[in-house]
Amino acid sequence: MHHADLHLHTTASDGAWSASEVLRVAAARGVSLLAITDHDETRSTAEARHWAQHLGITYVAGIEISTVWRGVDLHLVGLNIDTDHSAITSVVSDAKRMREARGRAMGEALEREGINDVYASALKYSQSPENLSRTHFARVLVERGICSHTGEVFTRYMKPGKPGYVPTEWTAIESAISAIRASGGDAVLAHPARYDLQWVGGMPGLLADFCELGGSGIEVFCAAHTPAEWSVYAAYCRRFGLKASLGSDFHSPKESRLAIGDLPRLPGSLTPIWADWEIAHA
Ligand code: AMP
Ligand code: MN
Ligand code: MN
Ligand code: MN
Repeated sequence: MHHADLHLHTTASDGAWSASEVLRVAAARGVSLLAITDHDETRSTAEARHWAQHLGITYVAGIEISTVWRGVDLHLVGLNIDTDHSAITSVVSDAKRMREARGRAMGEALEREGINDVYASALKYSQSPENLSRTHFARVLVERGICSHTGEVFTRYMKPGKPGYVPTEWTAIESAISAIRASGGDAVLAHPARYDLQWVGGMPGLLADFCELGGSGIEVFCAAHTPAEWSVYAAYCRRFGLKASLGSDFHSPKESRLAIGDLPRLPGSLTPIWADWEIAHA
């Protein structure tokens, strides 16, 4: 059974480490199957593949797509995708346009709060205006001493309803799932316990839709889940015939709850998301 970590970020999105740094630490921690899953971005793939091969890690290309379902923002992890497939590159370029526009609007919203030039400062943390994430803005507010940690920035400024929050019309969940599948990959619902679904029918309604639309699996072990939630989502896998995935959602040692590869092995009662991947059994 693989020691897998299938959800990690790099400097191509809002992670603090490059792909080579992530892969080297993963190897040292015994990870044998890995996917970099940057937000709406696949640019780290070549570097990650190179280091994986060098370090003896099985690598699958990944992405974390920002999507919307019934008005709720949901993150979908695409695993074992073809990053060059036109369906994926088109989702990525749409998201980039939205990120660029949202970044500017967030800068303006924070100006109205009397916090100046955050847009320019956030850009220093991001590889391009099209990869700007709320995390980059949060780092600026922490750096300036306005908040003491990124969590506080989200609570005070960046969550829906807060003054720095700018709603965005992310890719519809069905388009994201089709793009992932068209490119040969599996669509995984990221950190399911993190969503507020009370006004939209709850988790069973979401999972029923997700299965019908072609979703393959959900994250069972991840930084957002407590051990009690591991069993809840393992049970959802069995109930809906979904495969199980797992990932640290690593961003940086300071900002992440789990270290790279700091995950339990999937129990034998669950079907791993890589069950049908040739590469994972080679
Ligand atoms: P974005 O995709 O730009 O909307 O930013 C979402 C990212 O912000 C997530 O992937 C996390 O890295 C980070 N994030 C979201 N909520 C929080 C929170 N409460 N505390 C710290 N970071 C958060
Ligand atoms: Mn993130
Ligand atoms: Mn996420
Ligand atoms: Mn993530």
